[in-house]
Amino acid sequence: MKKILVTGGSGLVGKHLQDILPEATYLCSNDCNLTDINAVDNLISQHKPDIVIHLAARVGGILDNLKYPVDYLEQNVLMNTNLLSTCHKYNVKNVIAILSTCIYPDIVNSYPMTEKDMFNGPPTPSNFSYGLAKRTMAAHIDSYVNQYNKKWCYLIPCNLYGEYDKFSEHNSHFVAALIKKIHEATNKIILWGSGKPLRQFIYGGDLAIIIKKIIDTGTYVSMNVAPPWVYSIDEMARIAIKSCCKSNLKIEYDNTKPDGQFRKDVRSNIFDKFFPNFKFTSLSEGIQLTYSKVKNKPIIFRSNE
Ligand code: NAP
Repeated sequence: MKKILVTGGSGLVGKHLQDILPEATYLCSNDCNLTDINAVDNLISQHKPDIVIHLAARVGGILDNLKYPVDYLEQNVLMNTNLLSTCHKYNVKNVIAILSTCIYPDIVNSYPMTEKDMFNGPPTPSNFSYGLAKRTMAAHIDSYVNQYNKKWCYLIPCNLYGEYDKFSEHNSHFVAALIKKIHEATNKIILWGSGKPLRQFIYGGDLAIIIKKIIDTGTYVSMNVAPPWVYSIDEMARIAIKSCCKSNLKIEYDNTKPDGQFRKDVRSNIFDKFFPNFKFTSLSEGIQLTYSKVKNKPIIFRSNE
């Protein structure tokens, strides 16, 4: 049996992967701090994995990204560089790394974006350091593939959500924060901005299934991974309210707060070619699934996480 090592195993995607790939070894930052090259060397030389799934990253919301740009750049570049160079040193056969659509330019001429748009402009200013660090990992993996003929790849997923997300106020992602707001509201929810920006979300369980399919089929190809649909924030909020069975709630917008990047939706042509029959979980199904798993667990909604 192939030995599979997963970094970032305690995160949203890592926990979804644990559900369907229990035979792999899952690591968190306490097991190995990937910014420490000696720790990474010990890890890979002792574990000797055949396959590394690299999920670990410094991940956070807009405010955290704006406040700590140095940390986002340095920690992500160090983690990715240490891991890739060490996987090369010990001949790890396959690496699958997870990037993000934050690597793409802030604005391009036409949407949805494809993999070819990656270097057509700088990432959005609100998470420039994170986007650039992840973009560098794409170039790094492409270089290993070109120079050493590695069977390594990266996936570029759109925004994620699911029951293993962080639901606290200060560092949660959009869907988790939305579900929490809806859960706690009695007559209305207030959302930032105008409600007009467009967003593309994938259920975390879908990304885990896709990672497993790549291993099972040996399809080590770098590509965007996103469902074909895109919603405005307002449409998403309406779907979420309905999916959480709280149709009485009204939506108000706080226009004094920023909208953020207007759109960054991608097209998954390469993915569709290799996995034409993959059925993405719809947003309403995914939110229903997420809400059904977290609504009776008050601990999930703790605000000091
Ligand atoms: P997450 O829930 O924030 O988890 C991050 C993981 O990285 C945790 O397991 C964390 O370990 C680990 N980690 C952080 N710093 C580390 C370090 N210095 N050394 C070792 N491990 C470290 O992340 P996620 O949402 O599952 O995201 C998984 C991947 O998908 C990431 O690469 C992310 O950039 C990408 N992605 C995420 C989204 C999204 O919306 N969430 C969207 C697109 C792409 P601890 O638990 O010990 O801190």
